[in-house]
Amino acid sequence: MAQHEQLVIVGSGPAGYTAALYAARANLSPLLFEGLQPGGQLTITSDVENYPGFPEGILGPELMEKMKKQAERFGARYVLGDVTRVDFSQRPLRIWQEEQDFTAAAVIIATGASAKWLGLPSEQRYRGKGVSACATCDGFFFRGVEVAVVGGGDTAIEEAMFLTKYASRVYLVHRRDELRASKIMAEKARKHPKIELVWNSVVDEVLGDGKAVTGLRLRSTADQSKRDLLLKGLFLGIGHEPNTRIFRGQLEMNAVGYIKVRFPSTATSLPGVFAAGDVADPSYRQAVTAAGSGCAAAIDAERWLGEHAQPN
Ligand code: FAD
Ligand code: NAP
Repeated sequence: MAQHEQLVIVGSGPAGYTAALYAARANLSPLLFEGLQPGGQLTITSDVENYPGFPEGILGPELMEKMKKQAERFGARYVLGDVTRVDFSQRPLRIWQEEQDFTAAAVIIATGASAKWLGLPSEQRYRGKGVSACATCDGFFFRGVEVAVVGGGDTAIEEAMFLTKYASRVYLVHRRDELRASKIMAEKARKHPKIELVWNSVVDEVLGDGKAVTGLRLRSTADQSKRDLLLKGLFLGIGHEPNTRIFRGQLEMNAVGYIKVRFPSTATSLPGVFAAGDVADPSYRQAVTAAGSGCAAAIDAERWLGEHAQPN
């Protein structure tokens, strides 16, 4: 027999916990699946300096713990681990965690997005010690030093442009000799005095002294020759992947898998299913925007349940 819930929230980043806070305060007693990364992306960073209300900054894991406790205080309930399967073709909506079966009148999806990584062991070793996938978040820590961005698309150029505010020089390392980015962005990068384009190159290894990044070992894609570039930071700009695999084929998504919502509402293509945070946001991907849309999703779900839900 499946456990029935009024409202299930999938994901425990700023969007999921904020949705849980608002839904709990609306007496919906939400059940939130935390996933395999309770607290979401901010748990892998140190200082968060742009979340309002913390003038001295706050550690990412601490901020997420506070969000979790705040929602718990009003009656949100948590289940650790991923939702492994859903079936939204029937009512109530069906959700599985492995073999355990749940039904829900409404669901908020807040499963976030993940930056794509190169997949090098040295990249993993220096994550948070000079290797980052978010210039808006970590650029500030690279004042007056040289950094590199990998990628040739709009994300890489946006990251590189942002980093020029802090870094003394930004190398844009691209594997081909032509940028994928839009013309206007590519032109900006080419003209910027602090950006140096490094063509036909891939990162073979992130170099470091055990504590911090000291450089990159680059390999030429033209002749396979290697050379070292001394610098303090590496930013990945090779794109993001929304965590929507389990929802594929059930909800409308854009070409790269972000869930489509009827902005400014968080309604998806299916009645009673809402999406908030990075999973529905290819543009901003910030903690505060995720929290804001989590709030909107809870209010949307509450209104929808008020109008449509059957008594349990
Ligand atoms: P996420 O935080 O991505 O959380 C997604 C949640 O979904 C996770 O809890 C995960 O476990 C869960 N999940 C995924 N799949 C499933 C599933 N199948 N079942 C159940 N749960 C699932 N933003 C800022 O504003 N300021 C910063 O300083 C900043 N620093 C950052 C530093 C780093 C290193 C990174 C990677 C990002 C940073 N960001 C920062 C961006 C910010 O973290 C994200 O915009 C924000 O976390 C998005 O929140 P979210 O709730 O949409 O999703
Ligand atoms: P993208 O367009 O797919 O570009 C990814 C870039 O990373 C490509 O240049 C690709 O190289 C490179 N790359 C991918 N995997 C790599 C790897 N393993 N090693 C080295 N390089 C790798 O992704 P995006 O830049 O994130 O953009 C996604 C979409 O969002 C685009 O439609 C973009 O226009 C849009 N966007 C718009 C803006 C804006 O308008 N301000 C900002 C950000 C994103 P190749 O070129 O060789 O494939």
